[in-house]
Amino acid sequence: MTKREEIDLKRYIRNIPDFPKPGILFYDISTLMREPDAWQIAMGRLARQVAPWEPDMLAAVESRGFLTAAPLADRLGCGLLMLRKPGKLPGGTISHTYDLEYGSDTLQIQDDAIKPGQRVVVMDDLLATGGTLAASITLLRKAGANVVGASLLVELTGLGGRDKLDVPVKSLVTYE
Ligand code: AMP
Repeated sequence: MTKREEIDLKRYIRNIPDFPKPGILFYDISTLMREPDAWQIAMGRLARQVAPWEPDMLAAVESRGFLTAAPLADRLGCGLLMLRKPGKLPGGTISHTYDLEYGSDTLQIQDDAIKPGQRVVVMDDLLATGGTLAASITLLRKAGANVVGASLLVELTGLGGRDKLDVPVKSLVTYE
């Protein structure tokens, strides 16, 4: 029997070519989440990755970041906040609009989500070009956060996303 620490999470992440458009190889974590043991192992490894940063708060990027940040906040005993697409969050919000290859996108945070200087770790499922996380970090800083790290399940190293981020980055699984 394979020991838990030797389990290769890549075995559980399905690759789907040409989704959502031709030329993109999509890394689908649904197949990892369907396997309770593998998902628990992934959350345990994420917890060990993030705990040394001693966050007050985890910032979850819509939408698959919610899936990793919520169980982790429970494990680590820290707060949880959402970075969402426009129009989803009630009350006052702070926005940040960033450029995409074609067009632009906006993320929002509730304006009272962070107390000044709180230690925040930003979480998403996957790091590709780094545009989403770079924008998330800018938005978190606008809201007063001390962003102490970024945590991912999957990193596509060939796209150089981590070079766009001025915080420490940790990922569980990497692909070229
Ligand atoms: P980026 O801003 O280029 O780093 O893209 C990261 C965001 O897009 C994350 O929220 C991912 O969920 C999603 N994403 C980008 N590329 C992929 C991919 N090949 N497979 C799965 N999700 C992806």
